[in-house]
Amino acid sequence: QKNKRMMVAGNWKMNGNLTMLHQFKRSFPVFENIDVVLCLPSLYISETSSANFSIGAQDCSYYESGAHTGDISLTMLAEFDCKYVIVGHSERRARYNESNEIVAKKAKAVLENGSVPLVCVGEPLEVRDNGSVFDYVGEQLDAVIESCKGAMDNLVIAYEPVWAIGTGKTATPEQAQEVHAFIRERLSKYCDDSHSIRIVYGGSVSDKNAAELFAQPDIDGALVGGASLKMDSFSDICLAAN
Ligand code: PEP
Repeated sequence: QKNKRMMVAGNWKMNGNLTMLHQFKRSFPVFENIDVVLCLPSLYISETSSANFSIGAQDCSYYESGAHTGDISLTMLAEFDCKYVIVGHSERRARYNESNEIVAKKAKAVLENGSVPLVCVGEPLEVRDNGSVFDYVGEQLDAVIESCKGAMDNLVIAYEPVWAIGTGKTATPEQAQEVHAFIRERLSKYCDDSHSIRIVYGGSVSDKNAAELFAQPDIDGALVGGASLKMDSFSDICLAAN
């Protein structure tokens, strides 16, 4: 059923330093059967090119250029061969008020630029507790589908339940699979082959729990925060997907 390459993407957030980056560049192993991506703080993107992993950004502007102080355009990212971009991470949705509409615009801009958006969706704890996960995630997803439909080939969806991010509390493989299957079903109404779209899981993924998550039929990889800062843990997670 998984007739596609799995993806393991690391999200360093605002962590790391040049020494760490150079260690990854020097020593990160090669995984031939999966796509490995490191989403770095934007300053480090220009420092990094590696045969062993691809480079991703953690955010982008949906504008081409102009008076947008502090923002980075997709054309600039492309100049540094950065072809993956995280879009709509829950930290940006919460702290920078990124609405579903803004996230959808960014996803569309990334696709139009020929790059790959890693679009994050996922519910906070109160939504899980009150039983409306599908409504909540469905709304986040619909905004993206609406703006990207007809051009979703490169799209990657990251299901990241907010209560599992950075908490050490992973969704069980069954909880994650249930939402991944829902996401795929929703996508299937708008594209010819929803099975070719990668849906990766994020939320306290570690070298301990990666294999059982990857064994689920609709989990096509992971978006990894904390564990992507340690080369050994991150490469063990890649190994589990490879
Ligand atoms: C994330 O920030 O996307 C994430 C999943 O973080 P962590 O793996 O640390 O929970």
